[in-house]
Amino acid sequence: MNFKLIRTSLITFVLCFHLLPQFIFAEDNTEDKEDVQKMALYKKTEAITHIPWYYLAAIDQFEKNTQKETASEQLISIKIPDEKWYGIGNSIHNNSIVWISLFSGFGQDGDGDNLADPTNDEDILYSMAHFIEKFGNTKKDVKIALWNYYQRDLNVQTIMNIAKVFHKFDTITLEANDFPIPLQHNYSYKNTWGDARGFGGRRIHEGTDIFANYGVPVKSTTYGVVELKGWNRYGGWRIGIRDIYNRYHYYAHMNGYQEGIEVGDIVEPGDVVGSVGSTGYGPPGTSGKFPPHLHYGMYKDDGYSEWSFDPYPYLRKWENQARNR
Ligand SMILES: [Zn+2]
Repeated sequence: MNFKLIRTSLITFVLCFHLLPQFIFAEDNTEDKEDVQKMALYKKTEAITHIPWYYLAAIDQFEKNTQKETASEQLISIKIPDEKWYGIGNSIHNNSIVWISLFSGFGQDGDGDNLADPTNDEDILYSMAHFIEKFGNTKKDVKIALWNYYQRDLNVQTIMNIAKVFHKFDTITLEANDFPIPLQHNYSYKNTWGDARGFGGRRIHEGTDIFANYGVPVKSTTYGVVELKGWNRYGGWRIGIRDIYNRYHYYAHMNGYQEGIEVGDIVEPGDVVGSVGSTGYGPPGTSGKFPPHLHYGMYKDDGYSEWSFDPYPYLRKWENQARNR
């Protein structure tokens, strides 16, 4: 054997081993550090108000999901409109708590400086918890409080789902994903976003078709909660999962479901939810009108409306990640 080759391989090995993990962890650390700080704020607010931390964390996460990524010193993403915060009529935006309460503003003082500062993380979080506290601190109370605040079912549903996931895994750091088809099976897919399709009139194709054999397992790509399960004329047997990023993942044409999986269940990346089939395009049970495949769709919600977007780049990314695991 060539000694030089061994030496080069050894150096490469040592270098890779030494450098790569640092690279990977360096990025993780900043995110984790922020999560640790946020978690401390949620728990502190829970201690004062008795609103469980995971509801506060879920509201914060939900609002973060509706905003564009911007560089900010603030840890908490909850944005309370000025008029609500200061109170109607408090047009000079005086942030002393005496003044704000005079105008029945939303703003409260969380850090004990007698000011309700809408850019202060503790004040924002405490104000939200204080609002919820007026309704009570059970799951039902929180739901009613959220409805009063957002006045939109999907916002309430999404926040409750995020809270459920945070609570179950006892963390807000949940970033893993998986590819929906186990890589050892034969499968193929290409970008068909926006293609016209024949059945059902002038609809465009809102998703990616992953062709595979009957019975190949279909896995959840994310952490989330099962929000929908059942038959649809176009989608056949399908399942819908809402994740913690205000995204809805739609799996259609399945042969059937994983035993025991129900609406409201929490899933994590890699959990089997069903299997590949060719159901749909007719009354319940219709199958075989097209080759077996998984139709995978993704939808995003910004707190006001929901729209579909191209899942193809995500699938490629998750496939690569799964390959390198
Ligand atoms: Zn499709």
